[in-house]
Amino acid sequence: MDLSFILNELGEGHEENAGAVAPSIVPSVNFAFKTVAEMRQAFKDEYQIPLYSRGNNPTVDLLNKKVAALEQTEAALSFASGSAAVAAAVMANVAQGDHIVFIKNPYNWTNRLMNQLLPRFGVETTAVDGTDPENYRKAIRHNTKLLYLESPNTFTFELQDIEAVVNIAREHELLTIMDNSYATPINCKPSTFGVDLVVHAATKYLNGHSDALAGIVCGSEAMMRKIFYSEFMTLGATLSPFNAWLLLRGLRTLPLRMQRVSQTTAVLTQRLENHPKVAKVHYPFLPSHPQYELAKRQIAKGAGLFSIELKTADVKKVEMFSNQLQHFSLAASWGGYESLVWPYCAVYIPEGVTPAYPPNLIRFYAGLEDVDMLWGDLEAALSLI
Ligand SMILES: *Cc1c(COP(=O)(O)O)cnc(C)c1O
Repeated sequence: MDLSFILNELGEGHEENAGAVAPSIVPSVNFAFKTVAEMRQAFKDEYQIPLYSRGNNPTVDLLNKKVAALEQTEAALSFASGSAAVAAAVMANVAQGDHIVFIKNPYNWTNRLMNQLLPRFGVETTAVDGTDPENYRKAIRHNTKLLYLESPNTFTFELQDIEAVVNIAREHELLTIMDNSYATPINCKPSTFGVDLVVHAATKYLNGHSDALAGIVCGSEAMMRKIFYSEFMTLGATLSPFNAWLLLRGLRTLPLRMQRVSQTTAVLTQRLENHPKVAKVHYPFLPSHPQYELAKRQIAKGAGLFSIELKTADVKKVEMFSNQLQHFSLAASWGGYESLVWPYCAVYIPEGVTPAYPPNLIRFYAGLEDVDMLWGDLEAALSLI
């Protein structure tokens, strides 16, 4: 299906609403039927038919259809947040006594799901360095059920060779789940590499405006029905119709936003790499990145996230630099219109816990601002330290 058709026309139905070109928000929680027979049919197929909005809602359903088409999967299910989507996709496919292999240093709350929540229910998990797909194979046990990918992750941008991991999974008849929040379906479609379930923090790029939390799981219709009748309905982390509508609006400009950030980030990362005060830049689309070739093979364009290590290891200087920035807000998250900075030294690390990264690591998110303004800001802050 053509990208423009998906984003502009698929499922829109203007004629039903006096020619309105914007989709309607259907806030109704409840849906009424004309006959008992129709009501019975809805109870029978709540996945498909609006009955009660924790299940199927027309505004949310339109979003599901568009994102499934973007990801080239049969179906999709939306959730109230990315973390809810990740948790539902994983939990629906494991039971007590099963084992999961996942990439080390994934999104923080995915890590907690794997390291803390699932083990409480008797699910075992192993974290592996995913830069070598063979590490997945080595960690597989007799009770392994699924392999979890996040390519790349969003602090140091290690990639996994998606095709190689999928092949290992197929040899062992395991399910694969991949977090595709970084690349978005504009730049990477994991289903075309054979990934079974694609999960998104739709809060980030799919929405793109930092004003709605959302998550989406994409995959076969059979798998969506399975998740729907277990985690989706019982945990009830439902996306509100209003937030679905914000997502539909955000999606219209997704390709333009991805185009813009790839251009901006290419300039910023190259200049930072050549700056005397910067020791290292972590960005998969720099030729110096150890996985540059793999990145180009799997992802069409770089996105707006990257990290640097300053030459100084002095936390005071890292703070001084970060505090000085005028056009990068000190904030977590990413994927909105606005540029952000997150020095790793801002993370609270409890006594006795070894930090995952060095204190001079700083993550940036380049938004939609003018590249010269952003570079001027970085240069001025670097000159201070
Ligand atoms: C933010 C994020 C999530 C979680 O999404 P929420 O909407 O915040 O729950 C999951 N994966 C990645 C890669 C993220 O960046």
